[in-house]
Amino acid sequence: MSVYEGCFPLGLGTARFPVSGPEDDVGLKRSVDLVLRALESGVNYIDTGHSYSAGMASRILKDAFRRTTRPFSVTVKVQYGEDRTADDAVKRVRQHLSAMGLLKAQFFICWSIGSCEDFRHIMAPGGIYEGALRLRDDGIIEHICASLHAPPADMVRIIESGAFEGVTVSYSLLNAVQMRPVLDAAARRGIGVAVMNPLGGGLIAQNRNYFSFACGREDGGNTVHAALRFARAHPAADIVLGGVSSLEELEDSLGVLSAPDPETPQARMERVMAKVSDLKGFCTGCKYCAGCPQGIPTYALMQARNALLFDPAAAYNRQGPEELLYNLQIFRKLYYDDGWTPDSGENPCIGCGKCEAVCTQRLEIIQGVADVYRRAEETGYTEKARRERLRELLYEKGYRRVGLYPNSNFSKKIMDLYQTHFGAAAFEWMLFNSDRTVRGTLEEGLPIHHPDEIPELRPDMMLICSYRYEDDIAEMLRPYERQGLRVERLHRNGEVPWIF
Ligand code: SF4
Ligand code: SF4
Repeated sequence: MSVYEGCFPLGLGTARFPVSGPEDDVGLKRSVDLVLRALESGVNYIDTGHSYSAGMASRILKDAFRRTTRPFSVTVKVQYGEDRTADDAVKRVRQHLSAMGLLKAQFFICWSIGSCEDFRHIMAPGGIYEGALRLRDDGIIEHICASLHAPPADMVRIIESGAFEGVTVSYSLLNAVQMRPVLDAAARRGIGVAVMNPLGGGLIAQNRNYFSFACGREDGGNTVHAALRFARAHPAADIVLGGVSSLEELEDSLGVLSAPDPETPQARMERVMAKVSDLKGFCTGCKYCAGCPQGIPTYALMQARNALLFDPAAAYNRQGPEELLYNLQIFRKLYYDDGWTPDSGENPCIGCGKCEAVCTQRLEIIQGVADVYRRAEETGYTEKARRERLRELLYEKGYRRVGLYPNSNFSKKIMDLYQTHFGAAAFEWMLFNSDRTVRGTLEEGLPIHHPDEIPELRPDMMLICSYRYEDDIAEMLRPYERQGLRVERLHRNGEVPWIF
């Protein structure tokens, strides 16, 4: 019996609520209504994290929980890197629960484990897992689970370690070949699986014709329905997470997942898997090309380039140009699924042809690899580009106080990278956030300030770290800029975010 036994097959994702920030009253209300509708329909697993939906998910859930008597279970998440110790984990969970108005959560998630190396840190004495055990002993959480973004072979090892009762993994038509062994491993161990990205981060819905091969006779030609049923068809898949941003989307997913699959799940899985391998120009992620003498993860780069087969879609508040939208999809996948960021845009391929000789799909891998390095150079997705950006913005500029807006994974990354490349800063870091509930709390040992403290604190420069909301933040800072505050953006036009 899996840890997700009794959970409704559709789980509520909370990262895509239709809300832009704390002042968006209409968006907040619509989001609360979505949660209430989901709960009334029987959804009882809510997947959330403290930074979801521009940091607004907790507030929305708190409001919804106060208005319902329906039963639900909820996640709390701790990510290695953002937090490192057992104490950090306990503190993070307590803060998150308080923000949701809850005393306990059912599922603790070791969030976004990117490799076996991350896993070792999490499991080390005094690490995050120890914090989870402490919380479980105190009755604050019930189950210890993980979300995995590691290479599939690492995911299998982590699952087989038996440390987690359930895992959240990305699984869809796009990565079915490489992820099947992961779900098979979970099934063997009786470990619950919550499937995220069942529609491939939106790619499947946006390219219904291309993926129509997934439809069986009983799917009525609806590719999205076929893809959702496919994600649920594996025997290990207990829950399919739907990140909903509208009532229509929610009702559609509810309609599909609350009814039995009209095809037998086993037949669906075998039928679709056979067709995935026949797609022209599509990298299946089979990894036969692994072992590049230059250490290039060819399979990862080629799989990320699958995005180029489809129409690009708006993402991260960017509507275009087309190249940027493609680059966002390519590097988002490389960032999340493979943890790959090149040192520089210089392509190390020596053209030996070893990879192309074994590719089952006969893909032009050498050309594909060159293309990804070129894109990385052009979009600032390299370690070198980031170091030079920090030098340009901050190094030896004579600043005494530098504000980072908002405090987030971005601000932490900026401080860490600055320390790595240039040593201790000669100026004071300051963190800002417009969410009044975090005012005065500490992050990285620094207090978080509200922007209305800017005139009193007088930072010499304010660096906008967010990618998605940089225009909104720039607008909000405009009055301070008019009063002489220097405002800069971390990301330049055409670049992809430092963190996805
Ligand atoms: S051709 Fe290039 S990418 Fe392929 S194996 Fe050789 S060095 Fe690696
Ligand atoms: S061998 Fe070909 S299809 Fe398989 S992962 Fe490599 S590039 Fe993709």
